[in-house]
Formats: sequence, structure tokens, C-alpha cells
Amino acid sequence: MGDKYVRAIFPGSFDPITNGHLDVVKRAVRLFDELIIAVGRSPIKNQLFTPAERVEMIAELIDGMPTVSVESFEGLTVEYAARRKATVILRGLRSLTDVQYEFQLAMTNRAVAGIETVFIMTSEQYGFTSSTLIREIASLGGDLSNLIPAGVQRRLEGRFSQLRHQGK
Ligand code: ADP
Repeated sequence: MGDKYVRAIFPGSFDPITNGHLDVVKRAVRLFDELIIAVGRSPIKNQLFTPAERVEMIAELIDGMPTVSVESFEGLTVEYAARRKATVILRGLRSLTDVQYEFQLAMTNRAVAGIETVFIMTSEQYGFTSSTLIREIASLGGDLSNLIPAGVQRRLEGRFSQLRHQGK
């Protein structure tokens, strides 16, 4: 690494965080001086966990990673990056399908804010993991122990049993 301090943000929904996201975080630790996992508070997406719950789950997992922190943010990612004086947006890639969407997002963010996006490819074993699928499998009571951390699995079970109680 050069002599310039590099702070990166890793923005996403993380609803919930998966081993795929964590794999990207662990790889990124070696590249950046500081990494902020930024939980987006998107009003559009259907959310299972509140931003505060997502932050809490992530905080438990990064305990012991001194250069990594987590917080939530609202609004545009590029404006949040500027506020936090981050020069890099980190995104994970699973497949060529991701590339198409991420390419467009990265080009737009660079055009509007001059910020660079750095991509890290996840380990093959997590290439098919998505938070959406995790939520679906968990709602049907499936075993996800290979794809998500144990604490996340417990919270998913708790949330779905709560929803079943409410008849949802
Ligand atoms: P968003 O709603 O912004 O796509 P996600 O939480 O779904 O938020 O994803 C955040 C980032 O992590 C994105 O760059 C996404 O491509 C990446 N990502 C999601 N799942 C995985 C995975 N299994 N392996 C690697 N990267 C992933």
C-alpha cells in the first residue's frame, strides 16, 4: 500500500448479512486502511430486519477486525461517501449477471461524484448466495448453516416464528 490513507465504504442492504458478504469483507481488509460497512436505509426495498438489527448482527461479526466498522445511512451512497471522506466504494461480485448491473452503478457514481468503485469477487462457494434467497429458505425453515453465520440463522428463526405467530 502507498502512503495515502484509503477509507472504503461497503454499501448494501445486508438484509441479512451472509457468508458471501463476509468473505468480501475479509478480503477487503487486506486492501484498505479502513472499511465501513454501510447499511442502507432504503425506503423502497421490502425489509425483514430493521437497519438497527442489521447493524447489530454485523457488529457481532466484525468484533476482532480493528479496521472494520459498521453504521447505517440514509440517502445517496455517493453523498454518504463524501460525508465520511471515503474515496472508494466497495462492491462484491458473484457472477456475470452482477457485473452488468454493478458496471452501470459504478459508472453512474463516477460520473456524478468522481468516486471509484472497487470490486471483489467472492469465493466460488458463495457465488449463488443472495439475501433474498436466504430469506426465502429461512421462511420455509431450511438449514442455512453453510451460508450464513450462526447468529444470523438464530435471528432469522426468531423473526419467522414471530411472523407466524402474528399470522403473517
Ligand atoms: P444491494 O441491495 O445494494 O445490492 P446487498 O446487501 O444485496 O445490497 O449486496 C451488497 C453488496 O454485496 C453488493 O455489491 C452485492 O453484489 C454483494 N453481494 C451480495 N451477495 C454476495 C455474495 N454472496 N458474495 C459476494 N458479494 C455479494
